[in-house]
Amino acid sequence: MSSSYADGLSPYENKGVLGLEERYDSVETLRLKCGLLADWIQGARHVVVHTGAGISTAAGIPDFRGTNGVWTLEQKGLKPSMNISFDEAIPTKTHMALKKLIEAKKIKFIISQNIDGLHLRSGISRQHLAELHGNMFTEQCDKCGRQFIRNFAAKSVGKKSLDTVCRSEQIGGRPCRGRMHDTILDWEHNLPDSDLTLSDLHSSVADLSICLGTTLQIIPSGNLPLYTKKYGGRLVICNLQPTKHDKKADLIINGNVDEIMVAVMKKLGLEIPEHESTMDPTRNPDTTCKEMDWTIPTSRIKEMNMLYKKVCKPMRRKRKTFMYERERPDIRETKARKQAFTMKQEIKSEDNKTTSNEVCKTGNDHMIKNPVKIEDKVEDVETYRYSMEGTTEHNTDLQMNQTM
Ligand SMILES: [Zn+2]
Repeated sequence: MSSSYADGLSPYENKGVLGLEERYDSVETLRLKCGLLADWIQGARHVVVHTGAGISTAAGIPDFRGTNGVWTLEQKGLKPSMNISFDEAIPTKTHMALKKLIEAKKIKFIISQNIDGLHLRSGISRQHLAELHGNMFTEQCDKCGRQFIRNFAAKSVGKKSLDTVCRSEQIGGRPCRGRMHDTILDWEHNLPDSDLTLSDLHSSVADLSICLGTTLQIIPSGNLPLYTKKYGGRLVICNLQPTKHDKKADLIINGNVDEIMVAVMKKLGLEIPEHESTMDPTRNPDTTCKEMDWTIPTSRIKEMNMLYKKVCKPMRRKRKTFMYERERPDIRETKARKQAFTMKQEIKSEDNKTTSNEVCKTGNDHMIKNPVKIEDKVEDVETYRYSMEGTTEHNTDLQMNQTM
């Protein structure tokens, strides 16, 4: 459960901006925005999804910075009332929708900050998933570095030694006498190299990054969606609270992530599958079968590096022209831009109907309600960002200055 996991971490002063007020789009606005998101997914060539604790609250696992989040309550000397064990939790509608979208080849990659293992348990294969802060249902060998799936959640956090030995030989690899440790990062641990490298490459190659249930405050995870923007792609943020990068988003959806995914899947004509234990590798009694190997193959990183060189390097040269054209609809009026414009008009008329003078545009053309309150909050987040990050540039050696 999240609070025992939180209790297992070392003490850390700065937990980020906590408990910001939640905001909800009206039913009609939500419908229009989800429709637009579905169209963008349909038209994109490489979609990457970034997930945070907000997608697991429906499974009974508390988030960290929400209004009832672990860190928000900790500040008040309280503990979350909602608390299910990681072994009891099952993947939510959002997890299952993402699995389906991967199968339907609409999404290429998921980058998760969650340690609850619910993406793995939804049946997603390793090549489609990076877990930047670890996974309670995986363990790693201290000698050969291979990772394996566990049948039950690890009892420790912070890469501590477990009472198990390396399964490399049993799973068809070289004999190894290494001991296993949990994969959950503590505050100052480096992020796992292979997961971070793949996340970096996919985020850069993506022409659409969708953030689900995260305030994007943790670095480097929270900055990865900006790589998509850097190379001319779109950024969509789906969250109840304001996030650190709202000003840079092409679309912000303020709603419950499960409701958003249900609407998007409906528009795409895809059904969300139910979670079944047969698709959950943590429920597989054979711990030495090939499927229990959770190591990222180096060949996967090589493939992605080649794709990055093919897609992003030429774009770096053309970037200035490209960005200029994207900002000038009279030069390059794409179908999606036309749709976005039409939708904004529809949302504007809808919100005028329901909330009259509460609606305003931000500098990034997003329609938001209660502008004064939101702007104040966004400023808090921005101020925080500069104080947290200083002048640090993202690289693979960055420590997890802000975790979980
Ligand atoms: Zn080993």
